Amino acid sequence: MLYESVIGLEIHIQLNTKSKMFCSCSNDIWKKPPNSLVCPTCLGLPGALPVPNKEAIKKVQLLGLALNCTLNKNSHFARKNYFYPDLPKGYQITQFSDALCEKGRLETSFGEVAIRRIHLEEDTGKSMYTKDETLLDFNKSGVPLAELVTEPNITSAAQAVEFCKKIRELARLLGVSNADMEKGNIRLELNISLRKEGEKALPNYRVEIKNINSFKFLKNAVAYETKRQEELLKAGKEVLQETRGWSESGKKTVSQRKKEMENDYRYFPEPDIPPLEFDEKYVGMLKQELSQVLFYKDKNISEASFEKSKITKEKITYSMNDENELSKLVKEVIAENPAPVSDYRMGKENALQFLIGCVMKKTKGQSNPKMVLDIIKSLLE
Ligand SMILES: [Zn+2]
Repeated sequence: MLYESVIGLEIHIQLNTKSKMFCSCSNDIWKKPPNSLVCPTCLGLPGALPVPNKEAIKKVQLLGLALNCTLNKNSHFARKNYFYPDLPKGYQITQFSDALCEKGRLETSFGEVAIRRIHLEEDTGKSMYTKDETLLDFNKSGVPLAELVTEPNITSAAQAVEFCKKIRELARLLGVSNADMEKGNIRLELNISLRKEGEKALPNYRVEIKNINSFKFLKNAVAYETKRQEELLKAGKEVLQETRGWSESGKKTVSQRKKEMENDYRYFPEPDIPPLEFDEKYVGMLKQELSQVLFYKDKNISEASFEKSKITKEKITYSMNDENELSKLVKEVIAENPAPVSDYRMGKENALQFLIGCVMKKTKGQSNPKMVLDIIKSLLE
């Protein structure tokens, strides 16, 4: 009997904002002295008031838009109640229903992977274990964290790694995270179960694997867990629904929590933070920002293909950031495109993107889209 793995991923991405999620402490925590970047809010002291970081919210929404998600116009934060030494206030501020982004997708070499949601939450502190002590560092407490959850559309370790690499690349391209796995900027969890090859229905159990901090761990964890579950099923046994952790030193997954002991987090709306509302104008602005970033991406891709085809750089005749030269080109584009120009004057912001695109084309992606945007606006107003 042949089995196929059914895998869903949860990717935690630390956002590279200036300050933390709900306070003004610096978010640049790497290698800083323990407990040097803390305040009453990120320590969770009673009475401290969390204020959401708009930059973090925007970064999650940009990521969501790039992954074809729907952005919820109304969203809110929730409390997830549990106690852990590195979460001394007894709850984590996260999102439960109406996450910032829902129902996206990403094209891969093995087909489309559906994205269930991307929500925003605060990271916890860090516990370090010595021989006879546990040390706590709260610098990481309150770092903004995007959590991206996929549908179980993945069937192998290679596919899981490809998907995660694409997300890492996108996070870097959009500038939402440094996405450095060695610094813990991206952490993975997965759920995995097996079904007989050819079956379509989802298996009636799933095993969650936590503590995966590298692509190597991800590959090893999927290989180990597939084999463990396959042996149980072949012996006619049931696979228990549970949470397991990956132990890289032992090269195996270890049971952490059985289903019967599943935590009841008792989520409820965070009473200290008003609900979030986003209007059309705001979402339009985000879309415009995203399309500008994607211009840069096109530029990088075309430069790479120039190199491959050994066309020398001299063929790109201008390095276009001279304002006079750019103005000349913008005037040409305006003269050549009367319809989009009048659309823009009637208030259609999309037409502006088209005009910027035309200028970028003329300069072979060598000009600064922000400069182009400013010149077009000044010439049309
Ligand atoms: Zn703080």
